[in-house]
Amino acid sequence: MIEITLLGTGSPVPDPNRAGPSTLVRAGGQTFLIDCGRGVLQRAAAVGVGAAGLSALLLTHLHSDHIGDLGDLLITRWISTFAPDPTPLPIIGPPGTAETVEATLKAFRHDIGYRIAHHADINEPPAVEVHECTDGPVWDRDGVTIRVAPTDHRPVAPTIGFRIESGSASVVLAGDTVPCATLDELARGADALVHTVIRKDIVANIPQQRLQDICDYHSSVQEAAATAARAGVGTLVMTHYVPAPVLGQEDQWRALAASEFGGRIELGDDLHRVEVQPRA
Ligand SMILES: [Zn+2]
Ligand SMILES: [Zn+2]
Repeated sequence: MIEITLLGTGSPVPDPNRAGPSTLVRAGGQTFLIDCGRGVLQRAAAVGVGAAGLSALLLTHLHSDHIGDLGDLLITRWISTFAPDPTPLPIIGPPGTAETVEATLKAFRHDIGYRIAHHADINEPPAVEVHECTDGPVWDRDGVTIRVAPTDHRPVAPTIGFRIESGSASVVLAGDTVPCATLDELARGADALVHTVIRKDIVANIPQQRLQDICDYHSSVQEAAATAARAGVGTLVMTHYVPAPVLGQEDQWRALAASEFGGRIELGDDLHRVEVQPRA
């Protein structure tokens, strides 16, 4: 069984009820954080997961809404790990990730200096181990494997999706993307696909060009559902809602997805949890 928790279902627009894009995946005793939008550690705390308890951070791309709390995550993991020789945090992301992590640590260098000076048992800056990749296997530990494939969020490039497998269960995390063959292939036959979605039918009618711009590099609800159908996945989990569904509107989102996809459809607020069982 793989457990998916939508930690943050929001978007770049601050929302009092939705943290920024972040999803937690627990598989085979390991805990993966996919993207780290604003408020991610507060939401993770609500399900008993701390920064020190993460097996790895997986980044789909380097848009601000997906990495907004990277600094908080790196520093909080560092100061809440009490082992004398802390394991470096594996961070897997597209090219550019190493530079982003390095620059984030540099931005916090005063804080890092204060804490090293103040705590006798902290002598080193936060330990990280960054792997940049666009395609292929990236993880194989204790029965859990992760594979990466390119997605299409141009002009944001490169961007990647992840396929996490544990036992015979599999979950794919698409991130922000328009439909593309590489995502179809990555998601082929997976038990669940977590996909970001926007309501193009609403956004395209908002008289604000900067908002309308987002339509050309995201999937609509129907497009994400069509991807799920083409790939033959069992469950579609939608997240990163633009605009955020208001109370009672969820059925409308569900119906739009169901127009393209006949499987199980999940959406919800922050902390919505989906258990994924391998299909027979
Ligand atoms: Zn994006
Ligand atoms: Zn986004």
